[in-house]
Amino acid sequence: YMSIRRSERAMADLLAEKGSSLIMAFESALRTGLRGETGVRLQVLLEEMTRSPDIEFVAVTMPDGTIVAHSERTRLGETLRMQGEEVDEDRMTGLAPGDDVRWTTIRMEGRRVFVVYRNFLLGRENWSKDLPPPTIFLGLDVSPFEITRRQNRSYAIILSVVAFLMGMVCLLAVSFAERARESRRRQFRAEGEVHRLEEEVRRREKLAAIGTLAAGVAHEIRNPLSSIKGFATYFRQRFGDGSEEREAADIMVREVNRLNRVITDLLGLSRPSDVKPRSVCLENIVAHVLRLIRQSAGERHVGLSCRTSRSVPNVFVDVERLGQALLNLCLNALDAMPDGGTLTIAISRARESVCLLVRDTGSGMTPEIMEHIFDPYFTTKGSGTGLGLPLVHKIITAHGGRISVRSRPAVPAKDGNGSVGGETVFRIWLPLAPEEESGSARR
Ligand code: ADP
Ligand code: MG
Repeated sequence: YMSIRRSERAMADLLAEKGSSLIMAFESALRTGLRGETGVRLQVLLEEMTRSPDIEFVAVTMPDGTIVAHSERTRLGETLRMQGEEVDEDRMTGLAPGDDVRWTTIRMEGRRVFVVYRNFLLGRENWSKDLPPPTIFLGLDVSPFEITRRQNRSYAIILSVVAFLMGMVCLLAVSFAERARESRRRQFRAEGEVHRLEEEVRRREKLAAIGTLAAGVAHEIRNPLSSIKGFATYFRQRFGDGSEEREAADIMVREVNRLNRVITDLLGLSRPSDVKPRSVCLENIVAHVLRLIRQSAGERHVGLSCRTSRSVPNVFVDVERLGQALLNLCLNALDAMPDGGTLTIAISRARESVCLLVRDTGSGMTPEIMEHIFDPYFTTKGSGTGLGLPLVHKIITAHGGRISVRSRPAVPAKDGNGSVGGETVFRIWLPLAPEEESGSARR
């Protein structure tokens, strides 16, 4: 826009310059003539000048617009016409002619012209000082000016359109790039989901295989096991304290107990995943489990703490199976705190469920371990079965609940005594009892 303005101004300056030179040439041509012939020369010169194709007219007017000299003889004595009307003194003052040239594009003498005008200086000495001097108007062909202006305009329009199109192209490119990135992100997320589902299927298949096997074998093993345990206990009593035989009998009892645990877990896993839920207060189940582990917690110097936030609604669960799951979590927590710590159980209201939190300050887990804790047979303990958490998972999902785990492994203590800073938090979300659900919907 600025360069257009500049070029238009340059063009106008050029035309004005040309007009000014022509006026000057005209005046000096007149001056050189003989005094008596001035009037005749003036007319001839005027007519000669307008022969040049780019000069439309030349006129000299009095301050009130009366034409005293004109390239068209017939206009002599008439009034100068501007914008289709005859000019008067006011309009002439409005043009404000001075000793320096001025210019404007206007309709004058019946056509659109680039008119250059100034005071007519010839014979100034003859004019009265009080009266304004006459004015000379030189009408130049306006078309070069208009053509340049038109070209500039179309050039500006083309430029704007190109700039606009480029802007649009950039916008489109940006939006395409954004969309491509979004779809890549979505694909990435979908792949993650597929991976998770594959894991889930793998785990279920493994569980199903174990289930069939376990159901067949477990019962067969259980009966002989109780006989073995009975005999081992019997022999244990028959030998004195500290004797080698008694120690062997102790080991037998311990190992049988371990086998029993494996079988219990296996049976738990192989049982069909249907549960018999009813509306219960979660706090009662927690209290029951805490009673079961109180003694072993005391032996390991583990503090127990249970927190329930106010007005927690009833949950819809199978009391026995949820108790089994919670017990498994608590036993794991105790195993993780051989040198003492705190086991916290908290119950709180979540959006459309109740959240049960089990937190311990034990050894914690590395991310590599966490990846496998729900896999059957995965254990890091010498006497572990690796069936506890798969069972917990199965029970919770059978209830339509959800389980999550967060953990931070412990680091060796600065004084070289044990390790510190470990923590594991299991969170379980359980469904609300039906009457609570409709209640919350009403709320
Ligand atoms: P098991 O207890 O027989 O080893 P689980 O399935 O109960 O089998 O647990 C699997 C593994 O998960 C454990 O061996 C242990 O490494 C890890 N784990 C579970 N709970 C905790 C916990 N609270 N703190 C640290 N590690 C844990
Ligand atoms: Mg366990």
